Amino acid sequence: MAFPSQAKYVIIGAGIHGLSTAWHLAEGLKASGKGSGEDILIVDKTGIAAGASGIACGVIRNNYFQPAMRELMAHSVDVWESDPKAFSYHAVGYMQISAESMRENITTIYEQQKAIGYESVFVEGADKTDRYMKDIFHDWQATGVTSVLHEKRGGYANNTAAMYGLADKAEALGVRILTGVTVTGFVTDDGSKAVKAVETDRGNIACDHVVVALGPWVKSIWDMLDLPKVVNIKGADGAMHKDVPMWRYWALEEGTLGIDPEIQKTNDGKMPPVIHIDSSAPLLSDVDGSLITDKLWGIYYKPDFNFGGIQGGAMPYPVKKDADEVQVDPYGVESPEFIVDDNFAHMWCSALAFCQKRFEGQIKHYKNEPSGGIGCFTPDSFPVFDNFRDNVYVIADSNHGYKMIGVGKLVAEELLGEQSALLKPFRFARYEAGELHPVSNSPFPWS
Ligand SMILES: Cc1cc2nc3c(=O)[nH]c(=O)nc-3n(C[C@H](O)[C@H](O)[C@H](O)COP(=O)(O)OP(=O)(O)OC[C@H]3O[C@@H](n4cnc5c(N)ncnc54)[C@H](O)[C@@H]3O)c2cc1C
Repeated sequence: MAFPSQAKYVIIGAGIHGLSTAWHLAEGLKASGKGSGEDILIVDKTGIAAGASGIACGVIRNNYFQPAMRELMAHSVDVWESDPKAFSYHAVGYMQISAESMRENITTIYEQQKAIGYESVFVEGADKTDRYMKDIFHDWQATGVTSVLHEKRGGYANNTAAMYGLADKAEALGVRILTGVTVTGFVTDDGSKAVKAVETDRGNIACDHVVVALGPWVKSIWDMLDLPKVVNIKGADGAMHKDVPMWRYWALEEGTLGIDPEIQKTNDGKMPPVIHIDSSAPLLSDVDGSLITDKLWGIYYKPDFNFGGIQGGAMPYPVKKDADEVQVDPYGVESPEFIVDDNFAHMWCSALAFCQKRFEGQIKHYKNEPSGGIGCFTPDSFPVFDNFRDNVYVIADSNHGYKMIGVGKLVAEELLGEQSALLKPFRFARYEAGELHPVSNSPFPWS
């Protein structure tokens, strides 16, 4: 394809958000008679699924303490369910098995799931939790947990396959995807904030609208757009917290136990739900019985043929560097800095064995290959979906996003002039206005 000098809509980033926005925008343009997919150009400096979307565990769940997040996730699950084959989506469900300190929060989640018609089962009490789990997995043996929220919808999707499914849908409607093109800046007219062209390493592309969907790289483009490096946040106490850094990074730790995924089938021979457990019981080593932690800990796991084993992760850790100093590239498994180490393998495999007897003594099968990656987080760890500089839409998902395939649909509607009630709670102005999302007791920054 000749390098285009113009496109009505330039979308930067060919991950879940860029691709989903392009697909839905193309549909919306066609349906409204306002244009077609040919008005949309996606540029990516590497390729489709080269970012976080291509390494994500791919878990899709609704379990959020924040009502606005839950409603948004329910909307996204509808989109996943709209074409499971194209999105390589496995609707196996999701289980949140929790320590007593989280029970109250999870009760609220369950009640609100009921209120929005999102099907789930909630079981309370240590004995009942144990029985419920043993009915599914005969060898369940975890302690330090007193409730189960079993979401009947959700599950997981194969990370890269889903991105290609989205790209196919967008391209079928005429969207162009240009890879190997790095955005380096923006051109504006004197006296105007609006972007009139996107600068790239291959030339400028004149445009009417820009969509920024950059996952872990969002800060680089944010800086190019001269958007604020710090924000003022009105806390729940009414006090204004001044100059809070806009971005910080967390490192996600994930890995794969290289055993036959079929081993994790349920008692009735089905593929199981994704398991997420947060336990208050001391976690002991499955290798030598030593104490790994006596604080609340959490892991998640699922059998996954794509990863070739039991795949999952544990609690992420904050990257203790100023955001300006964090090296995002090379990203993911190529990173010399942000891949998991032996401590992760030891903790995660021991936690698997803590949960189910079938995993005892299996650590020797842990796949010793680079995995994990970093995510870029907002000040409150919730997304920012908003318009800046008059014609730049920023999708900054604060690393919640693989599951959020529906956000692109809502963003496309906003680009076509319709305000989305589901996206409204995620505007940038919420910080200064103190319209923050409630915070849960989960040890994970995204629950
Ligand atoms: C290890 C890990 C596991 C995860 N697991 C889950 C999970 O199970 N469930 C879940 O819901 N979420 C998960 N997430 C979060 C999720 O992956 C991200 O929130 C989501 O994929 C972000 O999508 P995106 O489209 O915004 O960005 P990305 O998928 O990162 O895409 C951004 C693209 O921008 C391109 N790019 C960057 N800079 C430029 C530039 N200057 N010019 C042009 N192109 C550029 C990159 O090449 C990349 O392809 C996980 C994240 C990680 C790191």
